[in-house]
Amino acid sequence: MDYSVLNLIPEPVLIIDENYRVVFANDKAKEVYGEGSDACYGFTYAFDVPCREKEGYPCPVENIKKYGSARSGVIHVHRTKKGERYVYVLTSYEQRQGIYVEVHIDLFDMAQALRLSGQRTELLFSSGPVVFFLWKREKGWPVEFVSPNVVDLLGYSTEDFTSGLIRYAELIHPEDIERVREEVERYTEELKPSWTHADYRIRRRDGSYIWVLDHTVPILDERGQVVGYYGYVLNITEKHEKEELFHILAESNPFAVLLYDFMNNRILYANINAQKLFGYSIQELLSHPNPITLIHEKDRHKALESITKRKEGYEGPISYSMRVITKKGKLKWVKLSSITTHYLGRKVSVITLIDISREVKREKKLTWLATRDQLTGALNRHALLHDFEHLITQAKRYNNPFSIIIFDIDNFKAINDKYGHLVGDRVLKEIAHRVKKSLRKSDLFARWGGEEFLILLPMTSEPHAPAEKIRRAVEESSLCDHVKVTISLGATTYKGGDTINSMLMRADEALYRAKNEGKNKVVVL
Ligand code: GH3
Ligand code: MG
Ligand code: MG
Repeated sequence: MDYSVLNLIPEPVLIIDENYRVVFANDKAKEVYGEGSDACYGFTYAFDVPCREKEGYPCPVENIKKYGSARSGVIHVHRTKKGERYVYVLTSYEQRQGIYVEVHIDLFDMAQALRLSGQRTELLFSSGPVVFFLWKREKGWPVEFVSPNVVDLLGYSTEDFTSGLIRYAELIHPEDIERVREEVERYTEELKPSWTHADYRIRRRDGSYIWVLDHTVPILDERGQVVGYYGYVLNITEKHEKEELFHILAESNPFAVLLYDFMNNRILYANINAQKLFGYSIQELLSHPNPITLIHEKDRHKALESITKRKEGYEGPISYSMRVITKKGKLKWVKLSSITTHYLGRKVSVITLIDISREVKREKKLTWLATRDQLTGALNRHALLHDFEHLITQAKRYNNPFSIIIFDIDNFKAINDKYGHLVGDRVLKEIAHRVKKSLRKSDLFARWGGEEFLILLPMTSEPHAPAEKIRRAVEESSLCDHVKVTISLGATTYKGGDTINSMLMRADEALYRAKNEGKNKVVVL
C-alpha cells in the first residue's frame, strides 16, 4: 500500500498495524520524531514497553479495540526532537485494511497559536466534534479559551465563556460535579501528565444534559506549578446511552447474556446471570477453551447447526431449547435466542439464555398427569388409545405385526372383601409394577378399567409367550401382606381389516374363556 500521499499533510501521521508496528510514518512525523523504532511507542516515546502499560498513557489503539469505536483521541507526552511535548493523538481505525491512522497535534504549537491569533487552531477544531478548553485553575473553573465549535456542543458561544458569564463547573451535573472536582484535585496532586475523567454530564443552554468525555492536561508554569488545564471535551451521549442500554439489557433482566464469537468458539462477554446459570465465574466463561461443551451432548447438534448457518452468513434470529451443563454437572433446560451483531470489528452472536428447567419439569409433570393412571403409574385409557390407533395404521401401511394382551385380576372382589379396599389398591399397584418389569421397553402398558389392564406389543406376532411370562411373574410373586394373587389373560394379534374394537372384542373373548377355563391362564385367539 502506498501511503506517500500522507506526506502532504503538515502534521505527523503514523499508520500502525494490529501489533503496534509503525507501517508508515509521513515526512512530518520523521521530522518531529526522527527515524525512531518500528513499534509506535518506541517511535513516539522512546519507550521499550507499550505505552498502555505506562501509567497515565491510555493507548488509543487499545481504546478502539476495547470500545469498538471508530476513533479515539488522547493527549500524551511524546519525545520529539525538540524535547517532550504534549501531543493530541487522534487515531482512527480503518476496518477494511485493519490499520490505525494517527494524526499528532502538538499542543504546545497549538497553545502558541492560541496566544498569537487562534486562527490555526480555529481551522483545526472549529468544525470537529472535539471541543478544546483552556481552564484557569480558579474557583468554578473559568474558561480562558474555548474552540468555537463549543456552540455545537453546548449551545453557548465562545464569548459566553471567555467573558466570565459562565464558569465551566456551573454546567456540570450536580450529581457529577463533586466527583469531577475530586478527580481534578487528586490527579493534580499526583502530578499526572494527563487523565481522562470518568464520563460526566454537562448542561446545555437549552437545559438538557449530555454525557461528555473529558481528557485533561495540566498546564505548568516555569516553577512547575499547575496554573490551568487544557483539555478536550467530546459528546459521547449516544455511545453512553448505547452502553447504558446494553448494560440495562445485559445486567438487569433475568436472561443470561453472552457475546459469542462463533468463528473462534469463544465467549467474549458474559453477564452476571450467565455466571448464575452456569455456576462458572465470568472469567471462567470468558477463558473457556470450548464453550460448545457447556451444552448437553444430545443437544450439541442444535448449536453446531446454527453456528454453521451463522458462518454461512445468516444474521437473523435463531432460537431453540437445549440442556446446558453447570459447573457442578447439573443439567438445566434453557431457551436460547440469538442474533448477530458487530463487536470490535468482528461478527458475533448475542445470545440470551433463560432457564426454563422449572417450566420443562412442570410440563413433563402435566404430560405425565394427563397420560397416566394416578394409582399405578401405568398409561391411562386415553393415552393408550392414541398409541393403539398408531399401531393399526403402521400395521396397515407397512405390515408391521403387533399383539395385544388384556388381563384381569382373579377374584379381586374377594381380596377387597377380605383385606379391605386400601390393601386392594396396594395389590393393584404392585401387580402393575411386576407386570411392567416383565415387559419390553417398547411395550405399552395401560390401566384399562378398575382391575383390568391392556398391553400393546409392537412387532410381536406371537403373544402367547409374553403373556405366559406375565402370568407367571404375578403368580410367583408374593405381594404385600403375603396376599397371593393371580391373573387371567386374553391375547390376540392384528389381522388384516382389524379395528381397535374388533381386536378388543377378540381379546375380551379370550379373557372370558381363560376365566371360564379356571382362571390363572392365558388364552390366545
Ligand atoms: P374375576 O376373577 O371373575 O375377575 O373376579 P373378580 O372378583 O375380580 O371380578 P369382579 O368384576 O366381580 O370384581 C372386580 C372388583 O375389583 C370390583 C371392585 O371392587 C374391584 N376394584 C375395581 N377397581 C378397584 C380399585 O381401584 N381399587 C380396589 N381396591 N378395588 C377395585
Ligand atoms: Mg373384572
Ligand atoms: Mg377380576
